[in-house]
Amino acid sequence: MDIILFGPPGAGKGTQAKRLVELLGIPQISTGDLMRAEAKSGSPLGEELQRYMSRGELAPDSLTIEVFKARLGQEDAKGGAIFDGFPRTTAQAEALEALLAELGRRVDKVVVIDVPDSEILGRITGRRSDPATGQVYHITYNPPPPGVEVVQRKDDTEEVVAHRLATYKAQTEPVLAYYDKKGVVVRVDGVGSLDEVTERIKAALGV
Ligand code: ADP
Ligand code: AMP
Repeated sequence: MDIILFGPPGAGKGTQAKRLVELLGIPQISTGDLMRAEAKSGSPLGEELQRYMSRGELAPDSLTIEVFKARLGQEDAKGGAIFDGFPRTTAQAEALEALLAELGRRVDKVVVIDVPDSEILGRITGRRSDPATGQVYHITYNPPPPGVEVVQRKDDTEEVVAHRLATYKAQTEPVLAYYDKKGVVVRVDGVGSLDEVTERIKAALGV
């Protein structure tokens, strides 16, 4: 099964993707995580990607598709994957379709996690993660257990969030029309407890 988790920054894509990994036994492919790992490595590609991420702008399609393709080709993604934060442009959606077609696969469902703008800022500025495990927390809604040292993403500031949200509306939301035509879009309400949202996604996927 190949599933896209779609929605604005802070919708809960990463959080829910990790839960679906357990449930469906297929990996999460997050282009944001892949780009942050590349940036951390200090490579020239990573330095370039970091410049886009710091500004809250999309990385160029060519670089993004290159990073994504390398991950999709790994052994654990042979039976399907959960795409988190990819595709974010129509060109990326077309590239995904071509890459999956080569493997005899296609996007089975696009799950849109709906969260109003008014919720986004608080979710993102309160986001923290454990660098050791990659687990994502929220200072209020999903606090880290005592003793776990968490960090904040550099692009999770109020200023950058506003730009990321504008970028989502201008460049990413229009990608939904591409999938609407294919009849694979399902929408779930992303407001509620983490468990409630997981249950809604499971129901939407029929799993
Ligand atoms: P995305 O991957 O879509 O950017 P995340 O999964 O990282 O979003 O979630 C953003 C923040 O919101 C995190 O701090 C996460 O703990 C928190 N969060 C996720 N789902 C919910 C929810 N249903 N209610 C409240 N906070 C949530
Ligand atoms: P995320 O972790 O999904 O919030 O993404 C963080 C940042 O990484 C984004 O603001 C972009 O700068 C970059 N990024 C992640 N995925 C993509 C993508 N599919 N296309 C372009 N840029 C991306």
